[in-house]
Amino acid sequence: MISVRFLGTAGARFMVAKQIRASGGMWFTFSGDVGTTQIHVDPGPGALVRATSAVPPCDPVELDAIALSHKHLDHSGDVNVMIEAMTVGGFRPKGALLAPLDAYEGEAVIFPYAARFVPVRHVLEEQAGPYLVNDVEIRTSIKHQHGVQTYGMHFRYAGVTISYMPCGRFFDGLAEDYARHEPDVLVINVLRYRDTMKVDHLNFEECTHVLRTVRPKVAVLTHFSTRMLEAGPERLARELEDELGIRVFAAHDGWLFDAGNEIAAATAFA
Ligand SMILES: [Zn+2]
Ligand SMILES: [Zn+2]
Repeated sequence: MISVRFLGTAGARFMVAKQIRASGGMWFTFSGDVGTTQIHVDPGPGALVRATSAVPPCDPVELDAIALSHKHLDHSGDVNVMIEAMTVGGFRPKGALLAPLDAYEGEAVIFPYAARFVPVRHVLEEQAGPYLVNDVEIRTSIKHQHGVQTYGMHFRYAGVTISYMPCGRFFDGLAEDYARHEPDVLVINVLRYRDTMKVDHLNFEECTHVLRTVRPKVAVLTHFSTRMLEAGPERLARELEDELGIRVFAAHDGWLFDAGNEIAAATAFA
């Protein structure tokens, strides 16, 4: 079983600052016969509070890893808080960290003292892996164009691939790189609606192009700006379903996405 609890779906500075949508990242749970692996991805501001107040709560002590796609604050604001929570304030070192090098060094967002509480520290590189967290394999994408080191992640577990395309500007080869992994599920950050601002994020049209190329069985849109909220992510998701013939969801705060169920439903739906 693979599930993703959305502890936040906010995507732009204003959305995060006002907490119009939450910014706690995504909590992945992979469970099977051998045990359960929990990975918190992109713990932005408020992640700990969103995790512990979820119903049922996501317990940081049970985490096996914390992963950052990149070091921007909306993805990393609570990373040190989560490390302390995972390791009981450093008294019980455990788990793994996965992040690009610039999250650890230079203008680091992971404090060195906190990093030392985590015995396994992976430096994410372009198109690399598998990085192993128990029996979950994580591979990285092509480097995103996003100002800081940014990589997507492909989680492979029990024959299922669930991919996460974080922030970044559209470029030729981006979608093709994700398509190579043939994801069953693609979680995609689509921040902009139709504006033509030259910012390092996908807009809805580019997202449509990516989904057409990657063709996951199920797509989940997240990381919204206010303009995307105004446009209505649920309505846009339905438009995409009609246009592409794949299952598309718009994430909302607190939502528990059951990947196994939805992949099965999508297979029936196709
Ligand atoms: Zn960013
Ligand atoms: Zn972002």
